Amino acid sequence: MRLKKVAAVFLAAAVSLSAFSNAVVPKADASKSIEDLRKELAENTKKKQEAIKEKVSKQTELNSAVDKKNDLDIQIAALEADIDDIDDVVRDKQAEIDEKNKQIKELDSQIDKNKDLLKERMKVMYENGNVTYLEMIFEAKGLSDLFTRIAVIRDIVSHDRELIQSYVDAKETIEDAKATVEKEKAEQDEAKAMLVDKKADIEKKSAERDKIIQTLKSQIDELEKFEAESEKYEKQAKEELQRALAEQEAKKKSSSSAPAKVGNGDFCWPSATSTRVTSKYGYRIHPISNVEKFHSGIDIAAEQGTNVLAAQDGTVVTAGWNNGYGYYITINHGGGVVTLYGHNSKLLVSAGDEVKKGQVIAKVGSTGISTGPHIHFEVIVNGSTQDPEKYF
Ligand SMILES: [Zn+2]
Repeated sequence: MRLKKVAAVFLAAAVSLSAFSNAVVPKADASKSIEDLRKELAENTKKKQEAIKEKVSKQTELNSAVDKKNDLDIQIAALEADIDDIDDVVRDKQAEIDEKNKQIKELDSQIDKNKDLLKERMKVMYENGNVTYLEMIFEAKGLSDLFTRIAVIRDIVSHDRELIQSYVDAKETIEDAKATVEKEKAEQDEAKAMLVDKKADIEKKSAERDKIIQTLKSQIDELEKFEAESEKYEKQAKEELQRALAEQEAKKKSSSSAPAKVGNGDFCWPSATSTRVTSKYGYRIHPISNVEKFHSGIDIAAEQGTNVLAAQDGTVVTAGWNNGYGYYITINHGGGVVTLYGHNSKLLVSAGDEVKKGQVIAKVGSTGISTGPHIHFEVIVNGSTQDPEKYF
């Protein structure tokens, strides 16, 4: 019998929710109805979730694009280092070539100088040759002396020619060496040109990737802007909806036949140690899902194991277990007024017990569906829940 009655109480609470949501609602504000607000809010939430999903996917894309660009930039840096190395080699080769050119120039001047010298000698010998020869012959002390003189001249000329030849030979050797170095330098230049091309190619790819990154970033910015706007709207719509629902609830109550206040506000506060109400009675909008939920009582956060007190004199109807309320108690105070105490860790009374106002009936806990130790306290009048805060 008693269990049946409690079940009826819960059913009443559940029905009041669905009846409420189906109610014909006047304009919430100047313009929007609760239904419109709900629809708008739901649509907005859906769009927002889609935007967030898209944002996450864009961010993944962005991360991969940044990774790829970093790879390309690393390749560019490596190529730059290689090009620098080649530049060093080319510089060395050029220095070698310059050195060889200097040597060649010196040899050229030596050759020219010696050629001039030789020319001078030849001039002496041939231009004024007859005179010289004649003079030599006349001055010669005999034929033997003459031959000696001619041989000396011949030796000098021959020595000059040999000297010039040795310069020419040296110059040739250096020119060969120079050609080798020039060939090596040309090879390095070619290699460098290849690397420069490759670098330009990768730089182009990196720039393209950069463009993609910029596009993704601006897209993400747009999505974030949309998200922020959605959130702003959501906050306003929730407030508007909350206010409209409260207004509707108040209208419903004022037209209801249920007594506005029972107990003359002399209920005893159900927690012996805490007055901290963490959740009020009425409609709440879930902060993430935006789903409306009716809270059929108040939550008083209290330390685990502290005392739960009977709000008023009465008879214990239920002291038992419910999946939602955990270990809970209901007390009938007469006149159609019932109070409920949920989530207890320990029950200290039994069904049928007479209790006095302020009597310890249970210990605070977090049983049933609960996120922490608290008392879920309900006031039920003629089968409908009421705002408990009006009864103290
Ligand atoms: Zn609660």
